[in-house]
Amino acid sequence: MATFETEALVLKQFDLGESDRLITLYTRKKGKLKAVARGARKGNKSRSGLVLPFSYHDFTLYQGKSLAKINHIESIAMNTKLREDLDYMAYASVVSEYVERAGLEDEADQALFSLLAVILEKMAEAKKGELLFYLTVFKAKLLLLLGVKPEIENCTVCGEKVDLNNSTPLSVEEGGSICKNCFKDSNYKYTLFSLNEMRALYKITFAEISKLKPVQFSEKILEKINELTEKFLIYHLDLKPKSLSFLYTIRKMKNN
Ligand SMILES: [Zn+2]
Repeated sequence: MATFETEALVLKQFDLGESDRLITLYTRKKGKLKAVARGARKGNKSRSGLVLPFSYHDFTLYQGKSLAKINHIESIAMNTKLREDLDYMAYASVVSEYVERAGLEDEADQALFSLLAVILEKMAEAKKGELLFYLTVFKAKLLLLLGVKPEIENCTVCGEKVDLNNSTPLSVEEGGSICKNCFKDSNYKYTLFSLNEMRALYKITFAEISKLKPVQFSEKILEKINELTEKFLIYHLDLKPKSLSFLYTIRKMKNN
């Protein structure tokens, strides 16, 4: 068993005994990993008290037989806002839970690690009204990483190029657009996407995160893509975070 160093984000934690915490990390070098933070609940006396949900640190870990032990940490980003406000917490919890469910133990995934780090940092710096945008971007990129992005330009049934100028039926079950020929006389479940909405979906899926800005997308379009990506993750990957219901509750309170 050995000591090793890795960057990691804290996905979740719970109390262990009188003074310790069990932490689930997503690490750059080893994917998902469970670790014990000794004395974390004694507060700021110990640096392991900094190991809070959604925070980002450089860890020195000792790999024990079952759990890793935290030897040392250097903080990279505390992402404090994500723990101080219920709205921020709701969104960050959903992002973290997607990674907890999709991420594998003992298997590094640099792209997933970077996506998580970037999105949590963006959320911590975002205005409240921009949180839905970052969650939607996160899910579109997650679908891309996991290989089930919505097919936009070609018909998912026959493979022909789809004329996107009119409203195009998009089916979660089929995995994307359906052309006119395949659509007539069929019983696909679908949602109609306008050309603008298709363009937005394409951009959110393929553009670099640094090139995407919340102001480029209307709330109506974001709501639609948010719903679509969520359904894709459930239908194709069985990924449905429990924390989504907390987010729905928070969002409902806001709309009333
Ligand atoms: Zn077709």
